[in-house]
Amino acid sequence: MASDKAAISPEDRGFYFADGVYEVIKYYKGRSFCFEDHLLRLRNSLDAVRIEFSGLHELRKICDNIMDVNHLKSKHAGIYIQITRGVAPRVHRFPAKDTSPTLYIRAFELPGYPNEMQHGIRVITRMDIRWLRCDVKSIALLPNTLLFQEAAEQNAGECFLIRDGCFTEATHSNIMVVMGGKVYTHPDSNLILPGITRKVVIRICHDLGISIAERPIKTEETDLFKECFITGTGSEIIPVVSIDGRPVADGKAGPVTRKLQNEFFRITYGELAGEDVSYE
Ligand code: PLP
Repeated sequence: MASDKAAISPEDRGFYFADGVYEVIKYYKGRSFCFEDHLLRLRNSLDAVRIEFSGLHELRKICDNIMDVNHLKSKHAGIYIQITRGVAPRVHRFPAKDTSPTLYIRAFELPGYPNEMQHGIRVITRMDIRWLRCDVKSIALLPNTLLFQEAAEQNAGECFLIRDGCFTEATHSNIMVVMGGKVYTHPDSNLILPGITRKVVIRICHDLGISIAERPIKTEETDLFKECFITGTGSEIIPVVSIDGRPVADGKAGPVTRKLQNEFFRITYGELAGEDVSYE
């Protein structure tokens, strides 16, 4: 149905409480990227917030169909999936057991190869003011939007988040840095979203013989960064050329970033066989 015809009740708990979770999945010319990984993360998010949704096994068929009816199969596109706890009177405790979760899915076209992937972005840093379950892909994104807005107002492309003297992640991407020839990224924990792109990049590093370690990156190490980049479904791999106005090394995308971008590009945009571009 056309999105301007779709109706969601104002009594939906997603509207009142941001009581829901979501996923964004990329499709490269009709081929989904790591669909099963996204589905697993959605399952984990639903379990974490105790939303009982029984339709996960049908999602791939529905998403493929939505791509089709929106004539997006020959383009690069994304799918947004949101599941909330459903429609119920506004009381804090969970609604009656028979309340059905609300499922909303929409497809949208994505640009092929945005400029930032080539030239990189500048970022700002801010305190990580989010909750302590950042591993849950919750629709409650007010801290993320407020922090990203600050970046946008300073013509920066992302905002790096700092907790206890370490970079956790950014408002809608994970952070990776290169120091002494090695790639570093924050370990999986409650402090970051376990990014699917992050996982793929870690895998690519292993395959290409690039050494990688998952450990917190201290802000005091910033001057040691030889390269820095962000990863995300929409962003893929974007070089970071300056942090709070100070250039990262020579202020240009570095060789490790380029190598990883090239390999990522080969996997995703390349003519690989199969319906889903998974990278297991
Ligand atoms: N971290 C946050 C806070 C995000 O919102 C996102 C994506 O939206 C990511 C990381 C990157 O995750 P993925 O690579 O699965 O898109």
